Amino acid sequence: WLPQVKGGVRKKSGLAHRKSLNDSLEGEVKAFLLDEGQLHTYDDLTKVNPVTPTTVLKCLQARYRAKVFYTHAGCTLVALNPFQPVPDLYSLDVMKEYHCAPQPQESKPHIFIVAEEAYRNVQGQVEPVNQSLVVSGESGAGKTWTSRCLMKYYATVAASSSLMKSQDTVERIEKRVLDSNPIMEAFGNACTLRNSNSSRFGKYIQLQLNRSQLLVGASVQTYLLEKTRVAGQPANERNFHIFYQMMTGGSDEQRREWKMSHDQRFAWLPNAEKTLEEDCFDETVEAMVHLGINAEKQGHIFRILAGLLQLGNVTFCSAMDESQPCDLEEKSKDFMHRCASLLCVPVEELQTCLRVRTLRAGKQSALFKPCSLADCSVRRDCLAKVVYAQLFEWLVTFINDSICADNSTWCNFIGLLDVYGFECFQFNNLEQLCINYANEKLQQHFVAHYLKAQQEEYVSEGLEWSFVKYQDNQGCLDLIEGIPIGVFSLLNEECLLNRASDAKQFRVRLEKELSDNGSMSWDKFSKQPHFTVAHYAGKVSYQIEGMMEKNKDPVPPELIHLLQKSENPLLHQLFADRDPVGQGTRGLRQVVTVVSKFKNSLENLMKILHSTTPHYTRCIKPNTDCRPLTFKKEEVIMQLEACGIVETIHISAAGFPIRRAVRRWHRAAIVLQGSWRKWRVSRSPAGFSLGSIKLHYQRSPLLYADLHPDHKRDGVTGLNQILLERLYRLICILPLQ
Ligand code: ADP
Repeated sequence: WLPQVKGGVRKKSGLAHRKSLNDSLEGEVKAFLLDEGQLHTYDDLTKVNPVTPTTVLKCLQARYRAKVFYTHAGCTLVALNPFQPVPDLYSLDVMKEYHCAPQPQESKPHIFIVAEEAYRNVQGQVEPVNQSLVVSGESGAGKTWTSRCLMKYYATVAASSSLMKSQDTVERIEKRVLDSNPIMEAFGNACTLRNSNSSRFGKYIQLQLNRSQLLVGASVQTYLLEKTRVAGQPANERNFHIFYQMMTGGSDEQRREWKMSHDQRFAWLPNAEKTLEEDCFDETVEAMVHLGINAEKQGHIFRILAGLLQLGNVTFCSAMDESQPCDLEEKSKDFMHRCASLLCVPVEELQTCLRVRTLRAGKQSALFKPCSLADCSVRRDCLAKVVYAQLFEWLVTFINDSICADNSTWCNFIGLLDVYGFECFQFNNLEQLCINYANEKLQQHFVAHYLKAQQEEYVSEGLEWSFVKYQDNQGCLDLIEGIPIGVFSLLNEECLLNRASDAKQFRVRLEKELSDNGSMSWDKFSKQPHFTVAHYAGKVSYQIEGMMEKNKDPVPPELIHLLQKSENPLLHQLFADRDPVGQGTRGLRQVVTVVSKFKNSLENLMKILHSTTPHYTRCIKPNTDCRPLTFKKEEVIMQLEACGIVETIHISAAGFPIRRAVRRWHRAAIVLQGSWRKWRVSRSPAGFSLGSIKLHYQRSPLLYADLHPDHKRDGVTGLNQILLERLYRLICILPLQ
């Protein structure tokens, strides 16, 4: 790890040099892979030599074959999804083992090491630092599973069994925190092609600890629920679990109350015949009870959901007279009545506001205009989406009220971020743009944390370091979030103009404003208006059609008026404070767009992340079919590339011996007659600062002895290097413990 002294490396030049390097690298890779029997023993990929996509992949594959699912990649933990339960991998005994280990890092790689390290970090600091555990990966890779494991770990190790007096409360809070999971999963997860229990929202859970490191509460922040799923599911996918749970778990009496006969089929419940282990209604209800959602409130919730299912069966047909509103299909009339009755709104008004637009011009009386057939369906879907999204938000608030500790009782937190991974489908729209933007932000944070800061520090120390090349994605971020001109701001501008959006025009505007940005390109042969963004994880083409409308996410005011009249107390409450037309105080339309809301919440999240010490876990999905113990190299390599794992290993490898050396510092401190306790690890993002070591040992005779007067004349930089080299040699000869 020793920095190279300037001029210490003689450089060959040009192509010949590069070619010989390539040849020798190839040779080294071959030599490394020859020892096949050893590959599974690499529990930290920073020990792999040379680090290339091939060597890393082969090691992970060998470990997976040996049923070893966790591997360190320096500062990141790689978690391979076994797609089958692994006996005793997460048992109480294993938790205890990691919790009680004097040096957990030296035990086998495990998610509990990450958990324990974060836990000890909070504990060990003079001034405790909050921690964040960032779990990322693509859908089905194991993020939800990992987050659940982490929560269970803290609910176990941070629980107090000795406090007899308050044991009851303590147990209840842990159980409540864990109980928030089944509820959020029932309402926010769905079966997709890639994962039967896919989270359709992002979440950051803050586990609150008191001075004695006990879990006393938690709070949840959610991001971007995929509400479109309520009213339309991609082929072979399903709606949110809760609907299926009601269908399979509701009692006869409940089904009567929900106006849901046993043989009724629902348009918005495709693949209902598929039973999943997630369809556990009793578990959801039990968790609700535990969190304080009583039977009465549950009744309101389920009636609303049943109303939405009936709404989904309503279809329209054109009226004979074009000046009249569309008709309801004959069989839909009954569904409409059931829906109105379940949502507790007047049926005539429900029918009208789905089919007739109310136009208001100034103070004149309202004009009524029949909606087109397509618009009627859009309004129906919009009603379902707005109700479901609001209900989800209400649930999150309720959960928070139930599990959040009083501010005076907690002092630190461990945050758990479970975010959707990078997405690239055949057609990508605003949702993917937001998700990929979030991933760009997190990647930047990761790079800044582990690489930029470390390298900048070396520079500030005046040391020439063999720099790891890293991708700085600021250009891509500027393209998306740039102010005044970026994709988001142009989208927002379009929304404010309050005119019908035109995809082709918008494409021209994007090209005019943003073609200078190297991360933006266009496929000249594509007929659909689109733009392509070069993300750190790959290029993604976004279709423009529909993007502006999605950003506006308009809700016809008539629908809000209607919901405000609901006699279902919960539904009424959900919309009571909402301004139907979104009028500002001076009568101006205040459009809070989807991207503005998302950007704001993401900025808040980044602020929290920046104020904490992060720990990264990358979940990898070894095959797309979720088959147990099946490792598809092509699948894995794509994910490794998408999260820049090879770079991560390089970065960590640069810092790794330093971290190992930290234990040696302890011995060094004794030899140097310094004191370990006095040696303060500076809070630099790189983990410690060379500067702090230098300062602390400045007066050590062992380091300063026999300094040639020339060295002193070299100035601070030269002196630093000599001192560091000496210190390094010294600690290298010391035993580890
Ligand atoms: P994500 O949240 O990343 O979309 P999940 O956490 O839901 O993915 O994981 C998908 C599925 O993979 C889970 O339902 C579970 O069956 C399986 N799985 C994930 N991690 C593990 C693990 N560590 N052990 C066993 N099975 C796992």
